[in-house]
Amino acid sequence: MFCLSTLFVALSLGVIPTIFGDYVYDVYSDYSEEVDEVLNNHGCDPNQCLAPNCSCFGVVPLKGDTSKLPQFVVLTFDDAVTTLNIKTYRQLLNGRKNWNGCPVTATFFVCHEYNDYEFVNELYKQGNDIAVHSITHESSTEMWKKASYDRWQADMTGMRQILSKFARIPASEIQGHRAPFLQTAGDNTFAMLKDNGFAYDSSMPSRAFMDPPLWPYTLDHGYLQDCQISPCPESSYPGLWLFPMIQWKRTSKVGNAVIDFHCSMLDACTPYPKTEKETFAYMLDNFERHYTSNKAPLPVFLHEAWLRDEQRLKGFEAFLDSVLQKEDVFVVSMREVLEYMKNPVDLETYKSQRKCLVDTRPKAGDCKPVTCNFRKRNILMKSCIPCPKRYPWLGNPEGQIQ
Ligand SMILES: [Zn+2]
Repeated sequence: MFCLSTLFVALSLGVIPTIFGDYVYDVYSDYSEEVDEVLNNHGCDPNQCLAPNCSCFGVVPLKGDTSKLPQFVVLTFDDAVTTLNIKTYRQLLNGRKNWNGCPVTATFFVCHEYNDYEFVNELYKQGNDIAVHSITHESSTEMWKKASYDRWQADMTGMRQILSKFARIPASEIQGHRAPFLQTAGDNTFAMLKDNGFAYDSSMPSRAFMDPPLWPYTLDHGYLQDCQISPCPESSYPGLWLFPMIQWKRTSKVGNAVIDFHCSMLDACTPYPKTEKETFAYMLDNFERHYTSNKAPLPVFLHEAWLRDEQRLKGFEAFLDSVLQKEDVFVVSMREVLEYMKNPVDLETYKSQRKCLVDTRPKAGDCKPVTCNFRKRNILMKSCIPCPKRYPWLGNPEGQIQ
């Protein structure tokens, strides 16, 4: 399966209503004793594990003084960037600014097939974070679950190489990873990420730590959140950051019952909101859970297809514009949050520093777009550099004659 159609598989993940009689029964509205046990006894000492390279599980920056913390709203989009979805990305991102004057940005977890490298070059130049989501995006979750370290390495470092070469982005700036269908192979995946210099993963959903939510943390003391999609890593990976996919909640009435649906990406909660107002309310509801507790970054993770509906797109934009009015809210990519986690400062300092990622990181190369036609595969590829001899793929990411 190519990587445009993954939304439908995502729908089947993590959408489990919790229902008890006629009212909402949410077992995790407070942490359970088991969860408290994990939080208090995982052996990480916040006085030893310090920025920039270490952050304990369950710890909130600045000792949890929420009045001094920025609230990050983290946008991510998965899969290929194409002529269809680039229009939405431009509409959402171009011209919107944060309180510190830096552009509103997103993280793009990109896979190869049907991806347009000219558009990726454009997105990078505007300050967005470009991350890997595999070359093949193979449709079998069983395959990913059982895949060897070598397979993960070929797919993910290969994708980094393809992005770097054909979109002309410095390889060192491609630091993030999300597994296809959120299906990792546990330690095979995480060892590969650590060994190959990736800075962060964002593939692991959490329902136990929704309320209050989790801040990103490093895997110095291993993986400690709930394991929603097994296998989860068992070893520790010092310095490797994890951006937990804190689940979203959508409360709906079905007959006489009120049901809570949970989802790892906001486009996977059903039923879909139908109107601008409903979309806005759904998003604000989830935002409030973060904003009024410990201000853990709100994960706004989705596939662009969800926004092809005019009402939902309007509601989504209204939400962005509404939260951008708040002086402590910043709509940013994961890379921007990671830079903050490495140097957590209070809100006033953060605003006055004005270090936009787009101005401080290495620049992309110029893009001289060409369309490459690989007739044998019946596939077109838009590249920033002259066409490779072969279609770039697993085992041959630069498309050389072998
Ligand atoms: Zn995907």
